[in-house]
Amino acid sequence: MQSKGVGCIYVPVTASFQLDMFLQIGNQLTRREICYTHSIALSLVLYQFHYICSTQPCHMRYTALLLIHLLPAFLAAQNHAPSASGIRVSHDAASRQITVTYDLDDDEGDTVAVVLQQSIGGASFLNATQVTGDHGAGLTAGSDLSLTYSYEEGLNPAGIRLRLLVFDDHAPSIADMVSRVSADSIRAHLDSVVGVRHFAAAPQRLEEVSEYISRYMAAHGLSAHHQLFLANNTFFRNMIGRREGLNNQKLCLINAHYDSVDDAPGADDNGSGVAGVLEAVRVLSGYYFENNVQFTTFNLEELGLIGSYNYVNSGIVPGEEIVGLINFEMIGYYSDQPNSQTIPPGFELLFPAQVTQIIGNQSRGDFIINCGNTASNALYTAFNQAAAQYVPDLKVIGLPVPGNGQIAPDLRRSDHAPFWDKGYPAIMITDGAETRNHNYHSPNDDVSTIDYDFLTRVASAGIATLADIARPLNATATDIDLSVIAATGSARDGKSSLLIRPNPAKDFLSFTYRSDNATGPLLVTVIAEDGSTVGREAIARNAGHKYGIRVKGLAPGPYILRISDGTSQATGRFVLVQ
Ligand SMILES: [Zn+2]
Repeated sequence: MQSKGVGCIYVPVTASFQLDMFLQIGNQLTRREICYTHSIALSLVLYQFHYICSTQPCHMRYTALLLIHLLPAFLAAQNHAPSASGIRVSHDAASRQITVTYDLDDDEGDTVAVVLQQSIGGASFLNATQVTGDHGAGLTAGSDLSLTYSYEEGLNPAGIRLRLLVFDDHAPSIADMVSRVSADSIRAHLDSVVGVRHFAAAPQRLEEVSEYISRYMAAHGLSAHHQLFLANNTFFRNMIGRREGLNNQKLCLINAHYDSVDDAPGADDNGSGVAGVLEAVRVLSGYYFENNVQFTTFNLEELGLIGSYNYVNSGIVPGEEIVGLINFEMIGYYSDQPNSQTIPPGFELLFPAQVTQIIGNQSRGDFIINCGNTASNALYTAFNQAAAQYVPDLKVIGLPVPGNGQIAPDLRRSDHAPFWDKGYPAIMITDGAETRNHNYHSPNDDVSTIDYDFLTRVASAGIATLADIARPLNATATDIDLSVIAATGSARDGKSSLLIRPNPAKDFLSFTYRSDNATGPLLVTVIAEDGSTVGREAIARNAGHKYGIRVKGLAPGPYILRISDGTSQATGRFVLVQ
């Protein structure tokens, strides 16, 4: 991917799933099979509407795709989340206004808040400011509520997605979330990622796992991105899934590195951590939060924390405050045998009480370590409290290190260290690596050595901590996607041009795109012959107008490339060869 000067590119890897699910061919709306990999009840309502421009020639027809995420009742056993239903959308192009009419439902008749969020050109959802009518706090259930959203001059509404977030002030129970964490599910995650994942020894497996993670995140309704970075003259990816919150300025992260060393299947190091992150995705993607929540898997940790250094240096959204990073670094190895836990030299001086406790328990490796530095004290305490409250069977030993942990370099050997060095709160959750697991960095680090009960308890504590710091909302959300459906043949709208070359293409698709709109990201969509969206990326502009996207992994055949920039749109055909 290009845009080296930009440093960081957020690239949504997979199409938002509502676009995957519905396509329109001509006037026919076709409902495709929906394969939704987890158990959230989902009902979909499709509206089609036309508008007629009275004041100017109108060539476009808009289709609104409405996706209603109805959270199942068990997610909020004490109090049902309110919801919006019966949504109607109308568009007045002359005044650049979109009016959303909806019925507001709440079983308990609570006071309800409604917030309209907007995503422009594939970017993250942010709270819309140009809204009038029935929105904000203090609403009550009823029919035919209405709000009006105004978009900026020059924007094409086809590039805008709206989200209606509806919530009351009964916070959902974190205990309910923890009760949904499943050892079977964690075992399946680990089975999906285990195997040597090394840039030189097994680059294909490393790539497969990154794709698997991204697909999993997208399938759970997260915006799936990657951060591309350069190392050894090769591009690598940190995989990122986000759920935007009400407060667009605060970010809570959970992470595990997904690479391994060159000769280890990496079950504990760090397939266990990745399995914990994927389980967090599965459980928490059913909820909405006040803060932004990000599920991250960094690459090239084993080469010197390269992915996480790149992330803290250029991957953080400007202006976003990091509430905390929970770093799962080997969380699946457990032993209650005496002398199964060794203690690094010097720890008896740094952590006398903890060492006394471990030795007093015959040096059993039957606990998880929570390691935080001085600036991370609140997060460190939050993990200890969440574990004690929600996972009382998990024994936690805390290692609070002064400063940034320079005094104990062993406690800086994972992706939390770059966060510490930038002053961001972060904790490492670990089974102690080679101080307990004798399979560390060896071919024996396989799934047969994993203790799934222990791994499940640790993942539960991390998930509870993430939910706690992110502040869950008793919410449902409805996404409204205003899309121009015009993906047939080559097209040019007079304001933009697209040249795909070389064509046929292989692995990478290179193209030149120019338009009057000189700023803003390009939303690149790849559409297969059957009309399904097979890829979607937002890429930064560059002055040379030359771009590229990775199409490796797509089946050979003809495709349509669609570029939207919020103002203009162009499409072209290309053929992919092996
Ligand atoms: Zn390692």
